[in-house]
Amino acid sequence: MDLQQTITGFDLWHLQLPVVSARDHGIGRVSGSCEIVVLRLTAEGGSQGFGEASPWSVFTGSPEASFAALDRYIRPLVVGRRVADRAAILQDAAKCVAHCTEAKAALESALLDLTGQISDLPVWALLGGKCRDTIPLSCSIANPIFDDDIALMERLRQDKVGLIKLKTGFKDHAFDVMRLERIARDFPEFRVRVDYNQGLEIEDAVGQVMDVAQFEPDFIEQPVRYHHFDMMARLRGMIDVPLLADESVFGPEDMVRAAREGICDGVSVKIMKSGGLSRGQSVARIAAANGLMAYGGDMFEAGLAHLAGTHMIAATPEISLGCEFYQASYFLKEDILETPFEVRDGQVIVPDAPGLGLRPDLDKLTHYAVRTTETV
Ligand SMILES: [Mg+2]
Repeated sequence: MDLQQTITGFDLWHLQLPVVSARDHGIGRVSGSCEIVVLRLTAEGGSQGFGEASPWSVFTGSPEASFAALDRYIRPLVVGRRVADRAAILQDAAKCVAHCTEAKAALESALLDLTGQISDLPVWALLGGKCRDTIPLSCSIANPIFDDDIALMERLRQDKVGLIKLKTGFKDHAFDVMRLERIARDFPEFRVRVDYNQGLEIEDAVGQVMDVAQFEPDFIEQPVRYHHFDMMARLRGMIDVPLLADESVFGPEDMVRAAREGICDGVSVKIMKSGGLSRGQSVARIAAANGLMAYGGDMFEAGLAHLAGTHMIAATPEISLGCEFYQASYFLKEDILETPFEVRDGQVIVPDAPGLGLRPDLDKLTHYAVRTTETV
């Protein structure tokens, strides 16, 4: 094990990955494809580590910004540094470019993967050890064509997935209520969560959220715009169902404010928002210290980012509400990993192999790349 070796390679791929259907959210639509950036670090001994940035332009940022943050601003801070100096590299990266949390998540993922490959340890061991071997999977119901989502729910039922998250607030209230009624009637075995993705106007929020609370979902997530902290706190006081913050809380600093202002009963933790796995752990721990719950959310990710999130949740007992790493299995036409991201009987399986446990298929990176820095 030689963590003193230096990092010599820093390669990027900007990928466009075709998806099987459109997905509507309160803040926007994804259709055709989603775009990610893959980072590969190589150490002088030949070991490699991978990370994924999974931005969404209406939520966290753009793939162009992720690529530029990594290529122009972060690369010079990484190449020539020792693998052992992960904390120092991450601290420098946090300061060198504002925002771009997805790029910073990709960097930490790649550094952890590389460290794990060299030290023969899984990433969860580098993050404090494991508290679970499996994580309950939630799949989002977000197709503008509800009949197609009914077919998806029949498939989820066969696959023994027990959690679904209904995306609301992108069409109208009647559509949301109709779908909740149909799910309660035809799919009573699912535990249902509801996510507005900021989709409600302030004047509509009280009435619509109180209506939806009548269906007693596990939680209702982010009904209003991220900056409406006062309205989140007010809604929380009006319903018995837990209110989750997502877009209102990116990193630990936001979590401190959210807890202080009482805007939520829990938080969706995403490495793409927090800017890395260890900062995601901090968000969950601040939430727990304030008596709040944590859920393992994600962006429109491929399997590489799912793996990073899986290792974080495996090492973070405070994230107790499951995860939503469904895109590799149910949304992308083809994932980028060499072997499939493992989901069995509705549970994500935590890998025990060194590093992230699985690697991207380089032929797929080449195939889906719209831009790369790799020199062949
Ligand atoms: Mg959300």
